Amino acid sequence: MDAQPPEGDLAAVSDIPSLDRLLNAPALSAALQEHGRTQVVAALRRDLDAMRERALAGGLLRQELDTGAVAARVAAALAKASEPKLRAVYNLTGTVLHTNLGRALLPDEAVASVLRALTTPANLEFDLDTGGRGDRDDLIDDLLCELTGAEAATVVNNNAAAVLLMLNALADRREVVVSRGELVEIGGAFRIPDIMKRAGAKLVEIGTTNRTHAADYENAIGPRTAMLMKVHCSNYAVTGFTKSVSVAEVSALAHAHGLPATVDLGSGTLVDLTQFGLPKEDTVRETIAAGADLVTFSGDKLLGGPQAGLLVGRADLIRKIKKNPLKRALRVSKLTLAALEPVLGLYRAPEFLAQRLTTLRLLTRPQRDIQPQAERLRGAFAHAAGDLYAVEAVPMFSQIGSGALPVDQLPSYGLAVRYSGSGRAGRHLDKLETRLRHLPVPVIGRIADDALWLDLRCLEARDEAAFTAQLAQLAEPA
Ligand SMILES: *Cc1c(COP(=O)(O)O)cnc(C)c1O
Repeated sequence: MDAQPPEGDLAAVSDIPSLDRLLNAPALSAALQEHGRTQVVAALRRDLDAMRERALAGGLLRQELDTGAVAARVAAALAKASEPKLRAVYNLTGTVLHTNLGRALLPDEAVASVLRALTTPANLEFDLDTGGRGDRDDLIDDLLCELTGAEAATVVNNNAAAVLLMLNALADRREVVVSRGELVEIGGAFRIPDIMKRAGAKLVEIGTTNRTHAADYENAIGPRTAMLMKVHCSNYAVTGFTKSVSVAEVSALAHAHGLPATVDLGSGTLVDLTQFGLPKEDTVRETIAAGADLVTFSGDKLLGGPQAGLLVGRADLIRKIKKNPLKRALRVSKLTLAALEPVLGLYRAPEFLAQRLTTLRLLTRPQRDIQPQAERLRGAFAHAAGDLYAVEAVPMFSQIGSGALPVDQLPSYGLAVRYSGSGRAGRHLDKLETRLRHLPVPVIGRIADDALWLDLRCLEARDEAAFTAQLAQLAEPA
C-alpha cells in the first residue's frame, strides 16, 4: 500500500491560484451566474483556506488546483448550502394529522388562494363597501358563524393562543373551574395549568382524575369565579369507572350562576364524522347548541386547514376578546386567512367534502384502495431494500392523530419489513429506516415489534410513481 502520493503530484502554498484569477476563470462563470458574486467569493475563500492548510500539511495534490476542480467543489458547496431546510417527506407513519410532519395538508383551492394573497395586494383590512378601514376577522367570521351556529367568531395563531387569549380576556385574576380529568398536556409545551397561570387566571381543580360530578362544579363556584371550563381530553382516554359532566350540564350550571361556560374542543370538527364512517366526535355546532358560550379549536387538525386557533361563541364575549391587547400579538397573517376561507367554504357542500378536503380524503381512504397499492409496491420495495429484508403487504391500523380520537383506529394497509438475516434485527431495521430518511424525498415510517411499518394511507395514487422511482436510490451504499 502506498499511502503517500508521489512527490511530483504535491502542490505548495505558492502554487495555489489567487482569488482574482479564479473569479475570472471561465469555469467559475456558471456558479457566479447562479449564486452571485458574494456567495461565490465566500465559498472560494473557504476553499482556498482549506487548500492552504492542506498544502502546509503536505497533503495537497496538484490536480486539486485545477480551476475546473475548484469550480466543481465551489458549485457543490453552494448547492448544498442552498438546499431548503424545510423539505417534503412521505408520511408513512400511519398518523394522518402528524404534528411533527405539519398536520393537515391543504386542498388546491387553499393553495391557489394563498398564492394570490402572497403575490397581489388584497383587502385584508380594507372595507371595499365603504373604502374605510376593515377588520381582518370580517373575512371569515360570517362563514364560521354559518358553520357553527355561533353569534360571533375570531381567529388567532393557533388553538393554544386561542385558549390563552380567552382566559386572559375573560378570567384575568379570577378563577376558572376545570375537572381534574381534563387537565391535559398536549405535546409537552401546552399544559392547561401552565397556560392558565400565564393567562393570569387561577385554576380551581375539581373532582378526581376519573370522576367529576355536577355538584363538584357547583361547590367550586364562588365570588371570584370567572367561568366553568371544559377541555377535550384529546390525546388520552379515561375509561373504566368514570364520570364526567356534559357540556349541556356544565353550561346550565354556569348560566344559573350568571357565568359563561367555555370549551377547549381541541381538534374541533365542523361536521358529523360518522357520516364518513369515522368515529363520533362532538362538532362545534353541537357544543354551541348544548349551551357553551365560547368554544376554541384548531385550524389544522380535523378541520383540515392552516394552523390557526378559532374562537366562536357569544357576541359580547368575542367583542371583549377582540379588545384584549393579546389579540393583536396573536393575530393571524393574511396567508392564514387566505387558506382558511376556501377550506371553510368547502364545508358548505358536505356532499363533496370527503373528496375535496385533503385531510378527510386521507382519513376516509378505504382499506380496499390501500391494499392493492401495498401489493403493487411490495416487490419494488423488497428489491430496493435488498436480500437482508423480508417485505410483506399486510393490514394495519392508521390513527387520525393530533389528539383527535386517540383510541380509534382506521383499517389500513401497508408494508411490514422484517430483517431476515442473522444477528440482531434492531440494528438492521434502524439502518433501513435511516436509508429511507436520507432519500431525496425522505420516507418516514415507524419501527415497532421488530418490524419497520410503512402505512400507505397517506401515499395517494398521484404520488405513487415518484415514490417508486426514488426507491432505486435506496440501495445499500457500497
Ligand atoms: C391540540 C390541542 C390544543 C393546541 O392546539 P394548537 O392548535 O396545536 O395550538 C389545545 N387544546 C386541546 C384540547 C388540543 O387538542
